[in-house]
Amino acid sequence: MDFKPLDGRKFPRFSGICTFFRLPYHTDVNDLDVSVLGVPWDGSVSFRPGARFGPRAVREASVLMRAYSPEADVRPFDAIKVADAGDISVVPHDAAATAANIEEHVGRAIEHGGKTVCVGGDHSIALPILRAMAKKHGPVGLVHFDAHSDTYPAAWGNEYHHGTPFRKAVEEGILDPARVIQIGLRGGLAGVDDYAFARQKGFRMVFLDELMERGTRAVADAIREVAKGKVYLSMDVDAVDPAYAPGTGTPVPGGLTSREALHLIRACKGLDIVGADVVEFSPPYDVQQITALLAAQMAWEAVVLMAVGKS
Ligand code: MN
Ligand code: MN
Repeated sequence: MDFKPLDGRKFPRFSGICTFFRLPYHTDVNDLDVSVLGVPWDGSVSFRPGARFGPRAVREASVLMRAYSPEADVRPFDAIKVADAGDISVVPHDAAATAANIEEHVGRAIEHGGKTVCVGGDHSIALPILRAMAKKHGPVGLVHFDAHSDTYPAAWGNEYHHGTPFRKAVEEGILDPARVIQIGLRGGLAGVDDYAFARQKGFRMVFLDELMERGTRAVADAIREVAKGKVYLSMDVDAVDPAYAPGTGTPVPGGLTSREALHLIRACKGLDIVGADVVEFSPPYDVQQITALLAAQMAWEAVVLMAVGKS
């Protein structure tokens, strides 16, 4: 099987069936170096829903992604076998059953050395993905783009929501807090203790003010300093300013520009990235595909990072 995107010179980008990056739809994950998976789950959000429609909207926007990254000098689809491996089965109204499905599905995809790029979905999907990653690799590090720390306390008595995946991951021993860096943090909190967990555990927290004062080069250096060993890359689109990423459920003004976010994602080149996600993109709140294109580009950059050094 030739895992190449549909040729834009033969089939214009507005034609054909929508898959991630116009790649073949191929659900036998054992054949793939990278499985790009949709995870249409938004049952764990605390404000605006809609991220369940994220995978489809990213597929549609991803027809504009191309086959060569000049920044990384990589042709990912020549270097490694990548396909649209379909959507993970979710169970509406049942977060625990959905999490079990995600862990099982991702576990199968990485069992024989494969990697996953999961397109959400809300950020709660990161916890079962990390469970699968840790089962295979042991506790991993994390490069986390987000306006939010997602290490918050329970909401409405429930500890498992889209604001807690990295707290639970540390508590479960599947995420190594000394190798976690969070980029894009900003905005008001429910209480003074909301950052206490991340601070106590020693996360490297990059607030927007630090990024503004020290610049992207200092942040890129911090990423390479902290994210040693096997790392997971988690990209919440709300790290980016709502002016550049309006289609999201919990927007916070004053975020990264799209170009800062993409630049810092590219700065992860050379890290040992075992899996990635793009989450919290909610198409019903999007405007003219602004956020869809960004989410598609983020997913594409993740595939590029996984192809570095493989050609
Ligand atoms: Mn998040
Ligand atoms: Mn967020």
